[in-house]
Amino acid sequence: MSDLTIIPAAGKALPAPRKNRHFIGGAWVDSQTGDCSDRLSPAHGVVVSQSAKGTAAEAETAIAAARTAFDDGRWSRLSGKARAAILLKVADLIEANVERFALIETLESGKPITQSQGEIAGAADLWRYAAALARTVQGDSHNVLGEDMLAVVLKEPIGVVSIITPWNFPFWILSQKLPFALAAGCTCVIKPSEMTPSTTVMLCELLVEAGLPSGVVNVVLGFGQPVGEVMTAHPGVDMVTFTGSTAVGKLITKTAGETLKKVALELGGKNPQVIFPDADLDSAADAVTFGVYFNVGQCCNSSSRIIVHEDIAEDFVARVVALSRRVAFGDPLDSKTQVGAIVTPEHAARIDAAVKAAVAAGAEVVLGGAALAVPGLGLQFYQPTVIRGVTPEMEIARDEVFGPVLAVLTFRTLDEAIALANDASYGLSAGVWSENIHTCLAFARAAQAGTVWTNTWMDGFPEITFGGMKQSGQGREIGRYGMEEFLEVKSLVMRIGRTRAPWVNSP
Ligand code: NDP
Repeated sequence: MSDLTIIPAAGKALPAPRKNRHFIGGAWVDSQTGDCSDRLSPAHGVVVSQSAKGTAAEAETAIAAARTAFDDGRWSRLSGKARAAILLKVADLIEANVERFALIETLESGKPITQSQGEIAGAADLWRYAAALARTVQGDSHNVLGEDMLAVVLKEPIGVVSIITPWNFPFWILSQKLPFALAAGCTCVIKPSEMTPSTTVMLCELLVEAGLPSGVVNVVLGFGQPVGEVMTAHPGVDMVTFTGSTAVGKLITKTAGETLKKVALELGGKNPQVIFPDADLDSAADAVTFGVYFNVGQCCNSSSRIIVHEDIAEDFVARVVALSRRVAFGDPLDSKTQVGAIVTPEHAARIDAAVKAAVAAGAEVVLGGAALAVPGLGLQFYQPTVIRGVTPEMEIARDEVFGPVLAVLTFRTLDEAIALANDASYGLSAGVWSENIHTCLAFARAAQAGTVWTNTWMDGFPEITFGGMKQSGQGREIGRYGMEEFLEVKSLVMRIGRTRAPWVNSP
């Protein structure tokens, strides 16, 4: 363990805990019960925020506020230009507040401060791109239906949208959804994870400053039960967009089915990177190392399994192990840190249990496999972990661990690599490494994944849509398709002139 790169406690003074209240109908409110929940910094173990704990009552009030704001057209009937102007102001304000937002994001989530800064600044670009899309809402026209007919297909905002977000990328995931819903003309009720609510609340301050009409965006803090459940079941909501676990995604689909509201889901993944012998192995090893440890592996896009050609497997694993030792794990407040803390002690225990189960199933841990002691901080860290000798039926090859744990499988032929990559209930993303374009394209076409990267990993752009196949989700986020999710389609069929033959016979 001593040969790992560990960044000890930076000893930075932490700010006083932030207080968060619900934002409903343009007002800051406490829960009727007066209850609050505390969030401890995963790395530092002290309270960093205290948030109102919502009940069904706050969720219902927020839905009513969003419903009124949608139905009276204060946002939904604005021009695309007017909506875009506000979204652009929000983007500017986000950029002006990167440091403030990044600090609390790091304190609540445990992710490195430089990563938080990158995510907040990058989110501003999502708002800018959504602003551009707000001016492109358009349908179709049909001018060849016959001399006396003309039809247009209109795109309208779907209505009130419930947005339920997780703790792993609180501000980034919110920004994959909210600006696109707003660009479409929807109004929203948001429930962040109770562990990482602050940047969502702070965003509301910016929305007010940017001039967003009250009631268009509402935030209810608290737990999935009861807040998320009300936001999913309520007949006043037209759509739910959710990012989180596959288990809760299925629950949401069931509940929303009672009122047949639209559901968009961004769920888990067991994303493979396939490495062929002719690949640029230095780049591939670096990308695999990045792909598995980024956000301590608490990432739907984590490349938590690799499928390596048998001939190079030993050498490739040795490269990844050597690189893993150089990745800086430790205090997220130190700008040198690349990998921070695990979100909760319970989740750290789940990661460790998954590793132990892999060993019991016959796999071999070649690096890590235990909690990581960071001098001056607690034990809510996990060592970079590489596991080989993994076979396709093992849980470590199939289940999302959501930790810094890499499972190594091997293959001999392209067909075998494709079969192994697709042998999963998930289908979020996949990667292929080869200098042969034919190999890359053959793999990319056959891969059952919403995104396929060739000779790279996890590059993303506001323009490029994102989402999962199979049990990784339904619907798409960001890009043009990201806004389309929030649009309803209406056909308008018109007769030109009084040419319609009567259906009822003349008397
Ligand atoms: P969950 O899926 O439980 O939580 C995600 C969000 O859904 C949270 O805001 C949560 O609220 C809310 N929620 C929970 N239950 C309901 C419900 N019945 N109705 C509506 N909303 C609900 O994820 P966890 O935080 O518990 O993480 C567990 C696992 O999920 C991880 O280990 C990982 O495997 C996976 N995960 C995947 C993510 C992804 O990006 N695909 C993101 C996060 C987790 P609250 O927690 O506040 O009660």
